[in-house]
Amino acid sequence: MNAPATIAPKKQHLIDPEICIRCNTCEETCPVDAVTHDDNNYVVDPEKCNFCLDCISPCPTGSIDNWRIVARAYSLKEQFSWGELPFQEQIEIQTSVESGGDLEASDDDAARLIAEAHLGAGGKSVAPASAGKPKINLFNRGRPAAATVSGNFRLTDPDADNDVRHVILDFGGAAFPVLEGQSIGIIAPGADKDGKPHKIRLYSVASPREGEKSGANNLSLTVKREGDGVCSNYICDLKKGDQVQVTGPFGATFLMPDDPSANILMICTGTGSAPFRGFTERRRRNMKDAPGRMMLYFGARRPEELPYFGPLQKVPDGLLRKHFAYSRVPGEPKTYVQDRMRATPDEVAAFLKNAKTHVYLCGLKGMETGVDEAFADICRNAGLDWAALRAVMRAQGRYHVETY
Ligand code: NAP
Repeated sequence: MNAPATIAPKKQHLIDPEICIRCNTCEETCPVDAVTHDDNNYVVDPEKCNFCLDCISPCPTGSIDNWRIVARAYSLKEQFSWGELPFQEQIEIQTSVESGGDLEASDDDAARLIAEAHLGAGGKSVAPASAGKPKINLFNRGRPAAATVSGNFRLTDPDADNDVRHVILDFGGAAFPVLEGQSIGIIAPGADKDGKPHKIRLYSVASPREGEKSGANNLSLTVKREGDGVCSNYICDLKKGDQVQVTGPFGATFLMPDDPSANILMICTGTGSAPFRGFTERRRRNMKDAPGRMMLYFGARRPEELPYFGPLQKVPDGLLRKHFAYSRVPGEPKTYVQDRMRATPDEVAAFLKNAKTHVYLCGLKGMETGVDEAFADICRNAGLDWAALRAVMRAQGRYHVETY
């Protein structure tokens, strides 16, 4: 009897449609144009991907960092249709196959190759165990939701350099369910200089799941006017009553734990505060007596530039312990969030030592390294191993990063 035929399994690079927030970063980064998208999903062309991994670290969510060992590569058509990634199929690995994205040698090697690929984005994102099950991708460019602007308020002082806005979108009778931490897409009307529709831009939801107030079918965004940014200027100029095309919701891992005993340590810069307003409001309104603690490190240029500065002052310390870091106050040293963390090591360490603590980073990509180093220093002095702890927290859905 002949031995069963073996196949030459290949490693295939895939994007997780549940986690992807459709920010287009991967498509812009890919040097060989292997990443493409339709109204539904961002996908990787198996014929073009050369495993250079350039797209891995810029991805704000880690959705780009997914791999399968396949006997037959999933086609673009299949990937476009997915609502979630397929499971890893059981595949017989042959002992030697060609290079160039193919696996070499053994199951052990396969595991190693995949593990190496995961280094870029720091590992797979996992949702908190107690988080609600999010709805994703209900609306897309071909079928957007229509929202009406019910408010647009400036959050920064009139003399601040930045114009940051709190914009409220009402969905009327249409369902647009979101969880704290998810993002939505906004389609600016018109076309770019090449006549193509403008890119969809992503914004974190800044309100809790019930909306700005109980019973309202709305959500809010925190948007900074960016120089000549088409979408940010469009949103910042919106008037009450204007109609807006919305896609999403997106994101299935950067979510808030529903467990009231979970501690939440949040670190943000600028408009990266948006999801943390949602987290705080959720606890304030629905979990008043939650035993879990919340602590926020928030960086901005000056108090006048800090979104939600006024309202934040009114949130009691018992609900939210606040640490502000200002980088451009005249006569004061430049202070970043990581400096504030270093100045309060006991508080950070107490959170990290608690197995119910979830850590969230949101905002500028540049802060990731500094914050990571601050965590490492604080841990070293507190008898903790940050690299090991971070890996455990990430695997348990207790460490989350969303930076651009
Ligand atoms: P920003 O005003 O430019 O900066 C906020 C603060 O961060 C400033 O004090 C800045 O200091 C400081 N900073 C700069 N580099 C840093 C570093 N390496 N480490 C620590 N702090 C640093 O912030 P922004 O323009 O609002 O940017 C927020 C980011 O959040 C954007 O990248 C945005 O895409 C992202 N985001 C936005 C949303 C949303 O829904 N709108 C959601 C998620 C993430 P200096 O400038 O004085 O150096």
